[in-house]
Amino acid sequence: MESSLAGDNPLLLPLNKDKTVYDGFITVKERDFRLRILLPPDGQLKRARLHCCWQAKHLLRGYEHVVKQRLRQAGDLVSFILELKTVLEVRLQSQPECSSIPPPQYYHQLISEMETLGWSKLLFIDTEFRTLRLNAEDSTGRQHILTVKLKSKHPAEAPECSADLPVPLAITWTPQTTLEQLHSQFLLLLESVVPFWDVLDEMDGKTWILEPEKANRSDTMRRIAIGNNVSIKVEVDPRHPKMLPECCLLGAEHVVTPLRNKLNANMHLWNPDCSVLHNLQDVLETVFPSPSTHEKSSFSVECGICYAYRLEAAIPDEVCNDPRCGQPFHQACLYEWLRALPSSRQSFNIVFGECPYCSKPITVKMAAGHKS
Ligand code: ZN
Ligand code: ZN
Repeated sequence: MESSLAGDNPLLLPLNKDKTVYDGFITVKERDFRLRILLPPDGQLKRARLHCCWQAKHLLRGYEHVVKQRLRQAGDLVSFILELKTVLEVRLQSQPECSSIPPPQYYHQLISEMETLGWSKLLFIDTEFRTLRLNAEDSTGRQHILTVKLKSKHPAEAPECSADLPVPLAITWTPQTTLEQLHSQFLLLLESVVPFWDVLDEMDGKTWILEPEKANRSDTMRRIAIGNNVSIKVEVDPRHPKMLPECCLLGAEHVVTPLRNKLNANMHLWNPDCSVLHNLQDVLETVFPSPSTHEKSSFSVECGICYAYRLEAAIPDEVCNDPRCGQPFHQACLYEWLRALPSSRQSFNIVFGECPYCSKPITVKMAAGHKS
C-alpha cells in the first residue's frame, strides 16, 4: 500500500513509524494541496481525521459530505486519496476562478515589494491585486507606464508585462525578481529608446503631421505635410533613429517625381550627427511647413467626393495627377465613384476612369479589404 501511495503522491509522507500520521502535498492539475491525515491506532480509515489547506477547503466547500462518504467507503488510504483527488479535480474544473485566488503570502510579498519600489510609482491596481500599472520617467522627463500582470497561481511564473514601446519589452525574469528590479529593467530599456523619441518629438513639434492622428509612443511612422496634397511618410527605425528613415512620397505625380529624384540624388548627404528633420529637408531641398508658419487646414484638404478629411482611419491620398486639378480623394470613395460610372473600366483590381473634377484620366486600386 505504501509503495503505491508514495508512487502516486511522492510529496505525501508518513511522519511516524506506525504510519498513523501523514503530511505533505497531493497534486491535482499541476497544483499542490497541503494535506494532513491522522489515522486512529487501528488504522481504520472511517475514523481518520483530515486536515487540508485553505485552498482545498475553499474548493471542497459544500462538498464535505462527499469527502466524508468517500472516507467511509474507501478500502484503504490509496483509494481514498485517489477519490479525494478526483473530487478536487472536478471542483477545479467547475470553478476556474477558484484556482486563481492567491494565497495570503502573495499579498504580503506584493505589499513589501511595493514599499521598496515606492508607492508613488503605483498608478493603478485592480481589485484582485493582479494588474499593476507603474509609472516610470525617463531621463528627458517623458512619462511612461509599465503594466504588470502578476500570475499568482504559480508564483514562479513570469508576469505579463506590457508598455507603449516601439521595441519588444524584453524583461529578464527569475522567480526572485522583484517589482523594483522589473521597474529598473524597464527604465534601462526606456533610456535606449530616448534618441528615437527625440527624433519623433522634433517632427511632431515642428511639422504638420497628417498621420497618425494621435501618435502613441510605439508608433514609428509619421506622415509629414510637405505642401498642398504632398506629403512624405517616414518610418523611423527605433534602433537606429538617426539614420535615413524609410521614406515614401505621396501626392500628384508632377510634384512627387521631382522630390523623389532629389531624395535619390542627395541621399549620400545624410548626416547622422544632424537632426533627422534637418536632414530630410536638406535632402529634399525643401522646408516643411510648420505650425508656426502655416495653418493645418491648408494641408488637410478634404476628399472631393465625401467632403470629409477622415474616412474612418483613411485620409484622402488619391490625388488627380493633372497639375491644374490636383484634387484629393479617399481611395474607397474614388473606387466606388469610378465603378459606378458606365464609362469606367476595370482590369484586375485597378479601375480606369475620369476625375470627377476635371475629367482627366484617373486610376485607382481597389481599396484594401473591399468586397468586389
Ligand atoms: Zn471621401
Ligand atoms: Zn482632376
